[in-house]
Amino acid sequence: MGDTFDVDLFVIGGGSGGVRAARISAGYGARVMLAEEYRVGGTCVIRGCVPKKLMVYAGRFADEFEDAAGFGWTLQPPRFDWSVLKARRDAEVTRLEGIYDANLIRAGVEIVPERAVIEDAHTVRLTGSGRCVRARVILVAVGARPVKEPAIPGTELAITSDGVFELESLPERILVIGGGYIAVEFAGVFASLGARTTLLHRGDRLLRGFDDEIRDALGEAYAKRMDLRLGRTVQRLERSGGAILAHLDDGARVEVDQVLVATGRRPYVAGLGLEAAGIALDGAGAIPVDAYSRTSVPSIYAVGDVTNRANLTPIAIREGHAFADTVFGGRPTCVDHRLIPTAVFSTPEIGVVGHNEDVARAACGEIDVYKAAFRPMKATLSGRDERTLMKVLVDRASDKVVGVHVFGHDAGEVIQAVGIAVTMGATKADFDRTVAVHPTAAEELVTMRVPAVTKTPVGVG
Ligand code: NDP
Repeated sequence: MGDTFDVDLFVIGGGSGGVRAARISAGYGARVMLAEEYRVGGTCVIRGCVPKKLMVYAGRFADEFEDAAGFGWTLQPPRFDWSVLKARRDAEVTRLEGIYDANLIRAGVEIVPERAVIEDAHTVRLTGSGRCVRARVILVAVGARPVKEPAIPGTELAITSDGVFELESLPERILVIGGGYIAVEFAGVFASLGARTTLLHRGDRLLRGFDDEIRDALGEAYAKRMDLRLGRTVQRLERSGGAILAHLDDGARVEVDQVLVATGRRPYVAGLGLEAAGIALDGAGAIPVDAYSRTSVPSIYAVGDVTNRANLTPIAIREGHAFADTVFGGRPTCVDHRLIPTAVFSTPEIGVVGHNEDVARAACGEIDVYKAAFRPMKATLSGRDERTLMKVLVDRASDKVVGVHVFGHDAGEVIQAVGIAVTMGATKADFDRTVAVHPTAAEELVTMRVPAVTKTPVGVG
């Protein structure tokens, strides 16, 4: 065609969104180059979901060993070796990284192991070699980075989630600051592995945005597993011999060996050249895009956490795929961000699809709340003091299930399957006519007959 472009697509960032976009676009015949400054696989594979979940598995053996006694087992006191877990986890991450690399290469994508910045609407500069590449389309898929907020004195003594994967030993005592996904998941991991764990959060409940009763159930469970301090902030950190001393707002001090700050992540846009290209960021520092992931510059698109829509791996993958379908597949495709099943890998786990109770009330008016709170069967013999909680929220007018919340073992697995039904628009009657699988915990979801609460909100009806 004789255009002046070196490639059809230049992808900046080899994480979940960028890799999917690159592979699918190349499959449509596009000439694709992808730059990754660190390791292909991105946050999810290298220092997020995957290695985190492996650590969650590691932690859960502690419960299994304890629970086994109630089922007749006698075990030697088990011993945990962090260095074995680290080495095996890191090897698995490296294996996956290799698969990501190989898949890109097999698809015909040229991988450039360098940082890339935007020079203008069609030009990317590779900062290592200084080479400039002209691209018909640029896709920004650089993700987000953990931040240490607020900036308190001594914050340099703390690590973020990235640092967790570099720890050479299990800290004896750790303070985790934050109440979101990352704080909750890692506090659970460290506590299970045997670290004396303090989880400190400024709010009065963990996991803002989740259903309040699920949040309460998690708080109750975590208070038994660790030192949980809600409604507290840390004012400063200081060295104290080989330890770190955290000074809290109530005058208390907590002495620990590590501090993990997990107070959020921000789009990784610094120095990327977005201003030069004419792209202004939104209030959260993210790249604004339209429903097709296109920025205000027609030749530049963005997907994944850098756009701060729903910061989850499967969403980044979908956005990357939809981008490729739209731009190179001749099939304009939007991602529906409305109904997203999700899980928090705390122990016990949380799985959610749809609205929480407050949002459901606001969105639907009259809802019925079906609830089951029970001791899981395994706990009857293990003697473990824990509860499972399930909620099904139903729009009374249409009988549609608008929210399902599960707190208990395997909640992530359960919610993935329930998510299909809810995505299809299942009604409570559909749940009711589904035969129970017995004996399981999940059967409660199809055997709830009487609403627990049938409040009519003020001003409705
Ligand atoms: P979140 O936004 O989920 O949570 C941040 C937490 O830090 C909140 O509890 C927040 O409190 C608190 N916080 C924020 N600013 C401050 C401050 N200045 N001082 C004290 N506390 C503060 O971020 P995460 O880092 O936990 O996770 C980032 C994203 O990564 C998540 O939104 C999620 O999308 C994704 N993720 C998903 C996982 C999964 O699917 N299982 C696992 C891990 C991450 P408050 O609530 O009061 O604002």
